[in-house]
Amino acid sequence: MRAVVYHGPHDLRVEEVPDPAIEDPRDVIVRTRTASMCGSDLYLYQGEVEEMVAPGRTTLGHEIAAEVVEVGPEVTGFAVGDRVTFPYSVSCGECPTCRLGQTAHCLTSGKAIYGYGVAFGDLGGSQAEYVRVPLADGHLRHLPDSVDDATAVFLSCNLPAATIAVEAAAATPGDRVGVVGAGPTGLLALQLLADVVDEPPLVFDSVRHRLDRAAELGGRPVDVAEEDVAAVVEAATDGLGLDAVVEFAGRGAAFDLALSILRPGGVLAGGGVYLEQDHPTSLFAAYFNNLQLRLNGFANAAMGFDAALAAVESGRIDPTTVISHRVSLEEVPAAAEAFSRREPGFHKMLIEV
Ligand SMILES: [Zn+2]
Ligand SMILES: [Zn+2]
Repeated sequence: MRAVVYHGPHDLRVEEVPDPAIEDPRDVIVRTRTASMCGSDLYLYQGEVEEMVAPGRTTLGHEIAAEVVEVGPEVTGFAVGDRVTFPYSVSCGECPTCRLGQTAHCLTSGKAIYGYGVAFGDLGGSQAEYVRVPLADGHLRHLPDSVDDATAVFLSCNLPAATIAVEAAAATPGDRVGVVGAGPTGLLALQLLADVVDEPPLVFDSVRHRLDRAAELGGRPVDVAEEDVAAVVEAATDGLGLDAVVEFAGRGAAFDLALSILRPGGVLAGGGVYLEQDHPTSLFAAYFNNLQLRLNGFANAAMGFDAALAAVESGRIDPTTVISHRVSLEEVPAAAEAFSRREPGFHKMLIEV
């Protein structure tokens, strides 16, 4: 089959790789219809976590709308032809951590993530014609006919992550809130938040086209490279600071920014992916303001799936609003580079496989 293979930093190639096969009676094989690329994939793509990947072998992608083509003998919930999606991480639904709702920490799968290299289960990714789904009954999900493929890919990662973070922010209508990071998932979180609060959420980023899109989607953009962030927040909150901030940039500097703009007792709902091992964040900043840190970036997407699906089906959010590019599998390497460079107008790619 054809798949996007990681060969090194900024070096993806579309290549012929072996078809996945049933390896365990609980496996399902799916044919990818639509996939995408997550902001968290940029850590891999940009070579920031080289120890986690196997160049020449690691395939990428954990977002998918697919069709079941083969079913292992112990699988009971799925049949050939079913339209499905999966949360980005593999969970059994039965082990102690799954029963706690910490499905990303599934003990049976060993925190396996589709297309995220050797450190997370060494599974094939969705940027490929076929994917092996282990422990299918535990986490694979049927797609209702009302949800099209373009929408469905958001149910794997971005939308559950946004839903979980916004829930953790616990904002009420009178709250003044912010979103740090206006990438695709930040823009989804913005739309969910804007639906709750009376005043437009402040959206912090330094990429112009992302801020422009945030403004179109109901936010009040703040360019952290150009504006005095502290002064903007002070003016917008009567000098108090924000009640809650949802953080989706997933970098140490963005985390610190989020800490700095909250009011005493405010909530930092961290949905970003922080893979920097040694970033020095000030404990004092968190302590001295009695901040509530609610980190969900290693998102339990299987647990957030139902809320994400409900948000789509009720019309509360249309996640396809953040799609800017539709590409074929062969076009992924060039599109990944454009995504990495934050080229003007690039938000989220849909990969039609
Ligand atoms: Zn993701
Ligand atoms: Zn489990």
